[in-house]
Amino acid sequence: MKDFNYFNTLLVQSVGSKVRAIAPSITSSAAFGYENAEEAESIFKGEIANPLYARVGNPTTTKLESIIAKMEGGLASIATSSGMGAMAMVMTAYLKSEDEVLCIGGFFGGTYTLVNETMKRFGIKSSFCDIDDFEQIEETLKKGIHMVLIESVGNPSLELPDLPKIIKLCNKYETLLVVDNTVTPLTLRPLEMGADIVIHSTTKAISGHSAALGGVAVFRAINTKDKLHNDKYKELHPIINKMKKKAMVAIAKKRGMRDIGMSANAHGSFLTMLGLETLALRLQRVNDSLPKIVKILEKNLPKHIKVSHPSLKSNPYHKRFVSDFNYACGPIITLECSNKSTAFKLLNKLEIVTQTANIGDNRTLALHMASTIYRDFDEDTQKYLGVTEGLIRISIGLEDPETIAKDFLQAINHGNSSLNPKEENSVN
Ligand SMILES: *Cc1c(COP(=O)(O)O)cnc(C)c1O
Repeated sequence: MKDFNYFNTLLVQSVGSKVRAIAPSITSSAAFGYENAEEAESIFKGEIANPLYARVGNPTTTKLESIIAKMEGGLASIATSSGMGAMAMVMTAYLKSEDEVLCIGGFFGGTYTLVNETMKRFGIKSSFCDIDDFEQIEETLKKGIHMVLIESVGNPSLELPDLPKIIKLCNKYETLLVVDNTVTPLTLRPLEMGADIVIHSTTKAISGHSAALGGVAVFRAINTKDKLHNDKYKELHPIINKMKKKAMVAIAKKRGMRDIGMSANAHGSFLTMLGLETLALRLQRVNDSLPKIVKILEKNLPKHIKVSHPSLKSNPYHKRFVSDFNYACGPIITLECSNKSTAFKLLNKLEIVTQTANIGDNRTLALHMASTIYRDFDEDTQKYLGVTEGLIRISIGLEDPETIAKDFLQAINHGNSSLNPKEENSVN
């Protein structure tokens, strides 16, 4: 397994240059001049890798894409304008009307509505199942569906999937597996485990500073015995026959990016690379702080507020947290308050923590789920996604862990910073 030392070296050395400008250069041109008509023809044919037009590629973004491909152990990647852009690119490139997607476990709100509302309007069918419902997973795969979507860690459900088992099933039934790895960059490398496409919202931990919206899809190489040679995907075969090893990225670029234009911009790609330089360091810090904060909260919270995280022995995913996730599953913890008014009172008393709809930021963030990101969903859907009436999602940042824990405790305890809030003082 690659450790944080490996990634610290890889990332700082790949982002910086040794000669001339050390920081990445920003090329903000939308169009690029060609030497002559012959060069223009070769660029459009794909024989020369010079920039064609910024919708289909930009030199600053190209550098970001090559670093992220290395980071994920993929062949190549395509950066997009947002995480949802990457998800939409992959779905529109690989699926057509009447194809079916199986969604396993809880999902980020935007992904859920993309699949369940927008793609549905274009005839792409979908079904959803619980994270460990292997019977339904296998039954659905047997039908010959075209894609499986899963998040490496449920956001905000904090469910940890049995990825090795799901990967094995998808490969057995020759079905494309797309893993949203936004919550666990570096910690999990799904392509090396046997997944086909990895997606990130780089807006989150990868950029880290809440300064650049962005996404990326990373692809594996196609091989001669590839499952994509299966008849189920015959519509993709002309591109596969032509592009061989690189076909997965070509499919996404030609059928998603070129036609729909969810392209990354140079300035955003520059900022994302600055984030990449310190990604491993920042993750290490969060991985150290998070269990400390969870422990302080667990010990000191009043009975009507519960902290939830797979690092706790009582958590149903604790075993997988140790065996498959090596004691780290991203920056999210949740507080289960008994109701909305308790959650609101707590949030409004926070002095340090920021209320916002982001995760993976350098700062600690918190948000009430049911009234914000999940407000448009009915009760059953909220339940499936792990959203309850009093749920607060917290994303741990780089601050002193004890200071952050104390901020939550004083907020619960009406501004009294004692580490032992008394029940009678607590918010109801
Ligand atoms: C934020 C997020 C997305 C969407 O990314 P944007 O950059 O906001 O478009 C997708 N998946 C997960 C898990 C996320 O947290």
